[in-house]
Order: sequence, then C-alpha cells, then structure tokens
Amino acid sequence: MSRNFWVGGNWKMNGDKKVIEGIVEFLKAGPLDPAVEVVVGVPAIYLEYAKNLLPQSVAVAAQNCYKVSKGAFTGEISPAMISDIGVKWVILGHSERRHVFGENNELVAEKVAHALDSGLHVVACIGEKLEEREGGKTEEVVFHQTKAIADKIKDWSKVVIAYEPVWAIGTGKTATPQQAQEVHKKLREWLSQHVSDKVASETRIVYGGSVTGANCVELSKEPDIDGFLVGGASLKPEFVQIVNARK
Ligand code: PEP
Repeated sequence: MSRNFWVGGNWKMNGDKKVIEGIVEFLKAGPLDPAVEVVVGVPAIYLEYAKNLLPQSVAVAAQNCYKVSKGAFTGEISPAMISDIGVKWVILGHSERRHVFGENNELVAEKVAHALDSGLHVVACIGEKLEEREGGKTEEVVFHQTKAIADKIKDWSKVVIAYEPVWAIGTGKTATPQQAQEVHKKLREWLSQHVSDKVASETRIVYGGSVTGANCVELSKEPDIDGFLVGGASLKPEFVQIVNARK
C-alpha cells in the first residue's frame, strides 16, 4: 500500500492576475517536497493563465463543472472544456457548492461520474455540518455522501476524497488530528466493506478545514490522513510549509 501524500489548494473566488503571479512566485521558490502531489484549484477564468505560469510539478484543478459535455447550460463549464485546455483535475461537491449553491448528493455524484468518464481526476468533497456532528450524525452523513458518489464510480484510480467538516471550513476551527483520523479511518473501512480492500487501501483521503502551517504537521502524522485540501492558507506562502508537512 502506498498512497502518495496529496496537497491541494482551493483558491475559491479569490485572486486576480497579479495575485496569481505572487502565488506562482512562492510555489516556484518552494522548495516543494517532490514526493508530494500538488494541485491548485483555480477560478475557471484563470485556469489557463495559472497553468501557463505554474511549474510543471504543480497541477491545476477547476473548482466545479457540470454533468454533461455541452449544451444549453448558460454559465457552466464541462469536463471536456477543462480537458481541452490541458487541465487534469476538478474539485466537486465542495461544501460551498453544496450549501451556498444547493448541490445535492445526486447532482454531485452525477458530476463526479461524468468528470471521470471524461478523463479528469476528481477531488470529491464530503463533510458534516456542525449540528450533524453535535447530533452524533457525522458517520451517517459522510457515509451517505460517499455512497452516492461510490455508486457511480467505476474506476477509483483518479479519485481523491476530501473529508472537509463544514464547521471547520474557513472558520479557523480545525478538527483535531484525532477527530480527523477517526473519520478517515471509518471512511476507509466503509470503502473496504462497500467497494473493495484495494480501493480502501489505495484511495487518498485528504483532510480540509482551516489547515495552516501551524497545524499541518500534527495532522499529517495520522495514518489515514493522506494530505490536505487547503482554502485560505493556499493563497499565502505558508502553503509551501503545508505541502512539506511530512518532510
Ligand atoms: C476549502 O476551501 O476547501 C477549505 C478547507 O478552506 P479553509 O482551509 O480556508 O478552511
């Protein structure tokens, strides 16, 4: 079993050309641990701009896409378009897509299936809300979200699961390493029981939710945390520290 450490940055709806040039500068200066797979999630309009500036070792992800290849869907972009400009990744089911834009499990699963069928790598995000955690429903919620996606996945080799508790995203409240490890372990057990041992042992499950330079090392020591999806801190030079958390 070898799961390469994976660190993604989610820039969300932030940045402009100048800001992107600054991010590229600190990523180029690094140095980034070459053993880590690094991917940055860029606003759609800047995908090509960022891709052309970034070092080859840093891959680019779209932050969303629709569930079909083309058609009358004003404002949407498709996996085919993302591939066409040479971008290989897409983030799907992010909590902001689910909770600000009302995407449900079924739509997220359809998007994941179509993106994979189109050849993209997918970061599939799941995570419980605060009231769900406080109501003891964390497992039920994340298993339900995972099942919706898993039911539609034929090939897991291009999937990274991002466990991102909603209460930890952009709030400065990080899950403790123990809290995150507990959920990651349960998710791996779920994959083993409902998909296969191979998929359970090979699929990267990364943690997201207020990861910073200060907390990344402790989180990275947990055996079932295979990397991070980073929002706010991915816009800052400390992202380099997060990439290098296991070094
Ligand atoms: C995210 O956007 O996926 C995220 C985890 O954000 P933050 O690191 O800012 O909590």
